[in-house]
Amino acid sequence: MNALPATQPVIDMAYLLASVLFILALKWLSSPRTARHGVRAGEVGMLLAIGGTLLQHGIVDYKWIAIALVLGTGIGIPLGLVQMTAVPQRTALSHAFGALCVTLVGSAEFYLRSPDLSHFTMAVLALEVILGSLTCTGSLMAAGKLQDLLPYRPLTYTGQNVVNLCVLAVALAVAGYLTLHPGATRLFPVIVALPLLFGLIMVIPIGGADMPTVISLLNAYAGLSAAAMGFVLDSKLLIIAGALDGSSGFILSVIMSRAMNRSFSNVLFGAFGQLQPAAVAGQEAKTVRSATAAEAAAILDTASKVVVVPGYGMAVAQAQHKVRELYDALTKRGVDVRFAIHPVAGRMPGHMNVLLAEADIPYDQLIEMDDINGEFSQTDVVLIIGANDVTNPAARTDADSPIYGMPILDVDKARTVMVIKRSMSPGFAGIDNPLYYLDKTFMLFGDAKAFVNDIVHELNAAR
Ligand code: NAP
Repeated sequence: MNALPATQPVIDMAYLLASVLFILALKWLSSPRTARHGVRAGEVGMLLAIGGTLLQHGIVDYKWIAIALVLGTGIGIPLGLVQMTAVPQRTALSHAFGALCVTLVGSAEFYLRSPDLSHFTMAVLALEVILGSLTCTGSLMAAGKLQDLLPYRPLTYTGQNVVNLCVLAVALAVAGYLTLHPGATRLFPVIVALPLLFGLIMVIPIGGADMPTVISLLNAYAGLSAAAMGFVLDSKLLIIAGALDGSSGFILSVIMSRAMNRSFSNVLFGAFGQLQPAAVAGQEAKTVRSATAAEAAAILDTASKVVVVPGYGMAVAQAQHKVRELYDALTKRGVDVRFAIHPVAGRMPGHMNVLLAEADIPYDQLIEMDDINGEFSQTDVVLIIGANDVTNPAARTDADSPIYGMPILDVDKARTVMVIKRSMSPGFAGIDNPLYYLDKTFMLFGDAKAFVNDIVHELNAAR
């Protein structure tokens, strides 16, 4: 019997601690109060996992590992410094790299071990490679769309879904054959190449702004492929980390789809986000009332209860610090100011919470949609800052609207509504917003940061 290497207990302990830290990281990340601990736990866990792996006695040469570490660090540091609005595409890139790694490891294992692979191991390895390949190109495509390097709107053609599913079906059929005949090495490239193609064509018909949901779904696939790799390599740590990653990705996708009142299949096959010609044409006929920063400041000055609704435009304009100044100016005057948080405002889960926390807005003033909706009828002024779809009353009233049934913030029930946005352009869903044509609504046309700044200036000058 071979004696275990002396480092094995150290490696086992490092992996065990890393697993515990990954679980704690997810638990802590679920609340803004403990999120920082969650990030730290994840970092330390990853460090232990990498450290433990470097101690493996099977490593014969550290040269390539050192090169990879330097390369990875060189890519990772700038990726960690991107703007908050670029986090979805940054995350997509991380998934692409992770999935590429899983695919390469799976391929190497196949060629090293074929034909001596059990049916179970071959089945799991095929799953690993298929999920890894489609996640890699799908994530790259998603990142390209979100970064505006590729067309943002869905690209569709007749029969697209059938073509896509056929490509995947052929890959799965070949995977089935390989499971039964693990020695058929010539067929192996098919289960890499077809899913690589599938990843691309799967994401082409999806609207750019649906990418966050798709990214969390790809996150789930990447996690599952890593868990599959754990079975192939007999690594409990990989199985645990992959399962955590996969299940949390699925749960997040479900939460996001629910908040948009969409099903997975609608997100994946619905080509959402196309401009609706009827809505765009309709908006020309109607008129809106606009107001200046001075008029908006005067309206806010007379209010006793104000609800601010932040959205994607606030994130784009990076207006959160100006919003904090507005909050200070109004609360100094004794105005009760709250923030209404819609679960899918912005472009990623928790987007608004993160930005407002960055600007040190007290967390207890951020009220979730279900809690604040009952309060709008007693609200003097709702100030919408770069939000659109999440305030669209058509979701409640127009059964033909693409967002019909999506839970929204009932801002139209407030006494006065003011909307800061640059134009009458639609938001992510590509549809007109009837809120803008109500008698009680004032449009404040301009960039969110500049307009809020002007309002603060007017309020301070009026003191
Ligand atoms: P939205 O409906 O996309 O509207 C954002 C508005 O911000 C636009 O109408 C735009 O109008 C305005 N805007 C853009 N840049 C601006 C700037 N610099 N200054 C002022 N305004 C600016 O955003 P939302 O109301 O936050 O809703 C989010 C949407 O994204 C929902 O439809 C949701 O389903 C979807 N989504 C969210 C997530 C998530 O996880 N949060 C994930 C996937 C999809 P102008 O161009 O006229 O300025």
